[in-house]
Amino acid sequence: MALIQCPACHRRVSNMAKTCPECGFNLVSGLADEATLQKLRQRQYRDRMYVLKMLSFTAMAIALIGAIPMLFHYIQGIEAGVPVRLVEHWGVYLVAAGFVFYATVRVRMMSLKAAYQKKR
Ligand SMILES: [Zn+2]
Repeated sequence: MALIQCPACHRRVSNMAKTCPECGFNLVSGLADEATLQKLRQRQYRDRMYVLKMLSFTAMAIALIGAIPMLFHYIQGIEAGVPVRLVEHWGVYLVAAGFVFYATVRVRMMSLKAAYQKKR
């Protein structure tokens, strides 16, 4: 028994298998029926969406890492009675980077969703 790579989902499957246990791709004829293709597309979409969701959480975390010290800085400034210029705080760069990152991820999610729905 050897392992081959499924041409549809690229997972390793036994060369004894007639169909891929992961995606149902017919390894004998090399053809996938419409239902299998649909399932495969759905899985790919879900996997990509998951990655994008994780990236959007990362983006939010980056913005928060910048925003929380800015907030403390701001509160300290109020307590000390000195005017605080938040634009000069280093956290502003992280907040900006987080927002740009987040917006980029959201745009990618929207275009992925649109492409997926068009194919269905
Ligand atoms: Zn497969």
